[in-house]
Amino acid sequence: MTCWKCQQPVEGSLRCACGALQPVPPGANPFALLGFAPRFTLPAPELERRFRELSFQVHPDRFALADPRERRIALERSTALNDAQRTLRDPVRRAEALLALRRGAEPDGPGGPPDARTERLPIEFLEEVLSLREELAEGQRAGDRAAVDRLVARVRAQRESALRDLARLLDSETPPPSDLDRAREAIAQLRYCDRFVEEALRAEGAEVRP
Ligand SMILES: [Zn+2]
Repeated sequence: MTCWKCQQPVEGSLRCACGALQPVPPGANPFALLGFAPRFTLPAPELERRFRELSFQVHPDRFALADPRERRIALERSTALNDAQRTLRDPVRRAEALLALRRGAEPDGPGGPPDARTERLPIEFLEEVLSLREELAEGQRAGDRAAVDRLVARVRAQRESALRDLARLLDSETPPPSDLDRAREAIAQLRYCDRFVEEALRAEGAEVRP
């Protein structure tokens, strides 16, 4: 790649030696945009720190008096950074982005590749989901807050276990295809746990409102 301003070669850096801000490299993944190796395990404070630092460097206000082209690049960089940070901050989206990278495919939309949406889950898991849902409905009908809290704690423990699985399955740079299939299951499990906890808590919140 060459710098749009001085035509000298630039190697994927934010700025050229001449100082000109460089556009987002084509096909840049969210990890690369924030300067991380593609791994599921990602320290949240470090993510926030890099995001703040980079956002400051490319903030459109800093380019208010710059060349219109550089202003456009700053805006594009800021938008890409915001998207990347939103993706990396959320374990489900981070895992989906990583799975797509490991599979050598780009996610084709917010839901990821079609095979990620079908959520083919193990039958034991689906059975447990069903029974948890019944218990939740029952607890809510009876107004039994303690029972609902116990269920939420159980699902949160499952969520932690899915997160550990994802770290184990996706942190390796060359996981076998079977690990990637298991990772897809763990993502679906994580998404399910998030939804369950959210719904259970929302229902509790509705109860306490006058
Ligand atoms: Zn330059």
